[in-house]
Amino acid sequence: MRRIKIFDTTLRDGEQSAGVNLNFTEKLEIARQLERLNVDIIEAGFPAASKGDFASVAEIAREIKGSSVTGLARSVLTDIDAAWEALRYGAEPRLHLFIATSPIHRVHKLKQTKEEVVETAVRTVKYAAAKFPVIQWSAEDACRTELDFLAEIVEEVIQAGAKVINIPDTVGYISPQEYGQIFTYLREHVPSISKVELSAHCHDDLGMSIANSLAAVSAGASQVEGTINGIGERAGNAALEEFAVALHIRKDFYEAETRMNLKEISRTSSLVSKLTGMAVPANKAVVGRNAFAHESGIHQDGVLKEKTTYEIISPELVGLQNNSMVLGKHSGRHAFRNRLNEIGLSVPEHEINHLFSVFKELADRKKEMTDDDLAAIILEEKLSKEQQYYRLESIQVQYGTNQVPTATVTLSGCQNEKIQEASTGSGSIEALYNTLEKCMEETASLLDYRIQSVGAGRDALAQVYVKLDFGGMETSGRGLAQDVLEASAKAYLNAVNRVLYMEETKKVAVNG
Ligand SMILES: [Zn+2]
Repeated sequence: MRRIKIFDTTLRDGEQSAGVNLNFTEKLEIARQLERLNVDIIEAGFPAASKGDFASVAEIAREIKGSSVTGLARSVLTDIDAAWEALRYGAEPRLHLFIATSPIHRVHKLKQTKEEVVETAVRTVKYAAAKFPVIQWSAEDACRTELDFLAEIVEEVIQAGAKVINIPDTVGYISPQEYGQIFTYLREHVPSISKVELSAHCHDDLGMSIANSLAAVSAGASQVEGTINGIGERAGNAALEEFAVALHIRKDFYEAETRMNLKEISRTSSLVSKLTGMAVPANKAVVGRNAFAHESGIHQDGVLKEKTTYEIISPELVGLQNNSMVLGKHSGRHAFRNRLNEIGLSVPEHEINHLFSVFKELADRKKEMTDDDLAAIILEEKLSKEQQYYRLESIQVQYGTNQVPTATVTLSGCQNEKIQEASTGSGSIEALYNTLEKCMEETASLLDYRIQSVGAGRDALAQVYVKLDFGGMETSGRGLAQDVLEASAKAYLNAVNRVLYMEETKKVAVNG
């Protein structure tokens, strides 16, 4: 069996999804879960992009020891320096360096000739090799690059010190057969190819990212890149959970495996979905709510007689368990802490007392506390520790079938000043959001609003996700509360706080 390395870029390419902006704590939480999932490499971000990116990559590199941590850099010396400062204390500092190679990118974006692109690539790989033990080099838009030029530049960067060569299908254009042929061509035409690992990085614009990744494996790739739930630029990246399970179920055919801990898949998927606010479609392979549901009578009958009649993947394989009642108001601190450990939520010892009191307060009002409830309240508490420009003090909403809905809101601003406004709308949420907008200096339009119950029952917690255009910037936020209106107000403020924080640590535009 060959072993295929898993390179996770949920925190870099995945975070580039429209409307997704993860904060420091959320990135760290995802990185810890990726380590439990046993991915080989975590791409933690793009250190030169912003102060915020730099800080989170540095912290992840320092903390994560079970996976190699990498960061992206353009072929620019200052990017490489920033990446080195962020990654140098990691277990195995690894740089992900890229330059565009296709004629479209060379002419319109870089405005460089082939010779200039090769010269820049070689010079920057050599510069980085003096610092980093491992350099992964990517030919951006490799799949639309002339094959002979691709082979030429790959040979040059291997000679300059690259250890991993990534062939990304940046725009999601290639078909499985063609993608395999590129790897075969490189193995036949690049003299030093046996010295490096070959990596596949596929996007899902034509729905072929997993098929392409598997074709690359068949043609000699020993590393596959992707994200959890397939989030990422445009239509997203290859979904790593789908790739790993496909390889596992069809190892008879591919004769390859990963070291991913498949039982952590379900938990990882749900954490990423919660923190990014990107819902997993019910019919999505491996992690969708319906992925293991048998509906037709004939299928149900078959599965009852013998599971394998219609079930090729067992829910247990990906760690899906029945979410049974775990804790209630009589549960003690000890049981609370144990349960947090069991479901993989990392909480520092000095925060346990405070979180336990939050839990108790909620357990008084809500009979049963499930694992999902626990995860939701812990993540919400972590969120409330982030920098907040506006904090919700109180809301009051009046609604009646024959009345004009009216909301009154009190916020505290960043100088602790009180802001109070009231407004109306044609519904409760509109009244509430009109009022919140009056409290701000910018105008905001609501791009998306979703409400979800955490688990079942009339007393379930409400989780609200919003996407806003706030002063011309797209942002998203989430809010949790027992009441839907309070959760809605929190989600709105969370989105606003994130965009204000982002403005403070201005981002530069990046592809890759
Ligand atoms: Zn990409």
